[in-house]
Amino acid sequence: MTQDWLGLAGQVAIVTGAGGGIGSAIAAELAAAGAVVGLLDRDGAAAEAVASRLRDLGASAVATACDITDEASVRMAMETTRAALGDAAILVNNAGILRPGALADIPIAQWNALLAVNLTGCLTCAQAVRPQMLARGGGSLVHIASIAATNPQPRSGAYSPSKAGVAMLSRQLALEWGPDGIRSNIVSPGFIRTPMSEAFYLAPGILERREAMVPRGRVGTPQDIADAVTFLASARASYVNGAELLVDGGLDQVMMELTPRPGF
Ligand code: NAD
Repeated sequence: MTQDWLGLAGQVAIVTGAGGGIGSAIAAELAAAGAVVGLLDRDGAAAEAVASRLRDLGASAVATACDITDEASVRMAMETTRAALGDAAILVNNAGILRPGALADIPIAQWNALLAVNLTGCLTCAQAVRPQMLARGGGSLVHIASIAATNPQPRSGAYSPSKAGVAMLSRQLALEWGPDGIRSNIVSPGFIRTPMSEAFYLAPGILERREAMVPRGRVGTPQDIADAVTFLASARASYVNGAELLVDGGLDQVMMELTPRPGF
């Protein structure tokens, strides 16, 4: 049995939104698997706090403040990471935002602002890291979409369209960059308890109601997502390209279970 089953030892992995709930768990899991991690976040202090925790555990981790909606900021951050750690083998496009907004009257500027982070930001980061992946003969992109990519999430402005866009962006990247040795895949989380979703759980009874909806019987954790991302990023997934891995405890399957069908 090999010591480095995932083949991640010494590989450089860049994680966006690494100061947040899911991003910090992804960075930690990749580091635990032996990867050298570049942590990018608009909130540089949050990314640095995670990086410093990982360094205390013996990992190589470098945090860089970066706004993924700003192309110059992304290019600079990728160069900083490259100078410190070397060419990236892995990019996890995890940074994302969720904002309320009804389609009847959402200001177009607000619509565009969300797409700029959740969709366009993923392409900007992928383009900026591509030369590094080419320099080392290939790499792996993993994008965090959502069950909202296939289930319209009402009153959330461009959130669902942005995640559907990321899902297709990933498949298009799989086609266009596959011949260069760059794989592209998606992880789609269901209900995960993080700072982004925490406000929902403050309301009484919401946790229990959500748990009752999920066949697996619980709300997901950032670690659940980090495990799936680590697999797709790794050499164990070297023939997986253009795939979507749902990590939702079975939530996406429940429609017929919720449908009244007397006799069944
Ligand atoms: P989070 O709010 O805890 O973390 C998001 C991180 O992204 C934050 O650290 C934030 O500073 C960073 N960020 C936001 N805009 C940025 C920008 N312009 N540039 C750089 N960094 C930026 O949220 P989370 O729950 O950890 O979400 C991570 C990803 O998972 C998101 O893409 C989200 O849409 C997706 N997701 C979350 C859930 C859930 O239930 N929490 C479910 C499905 C999908």
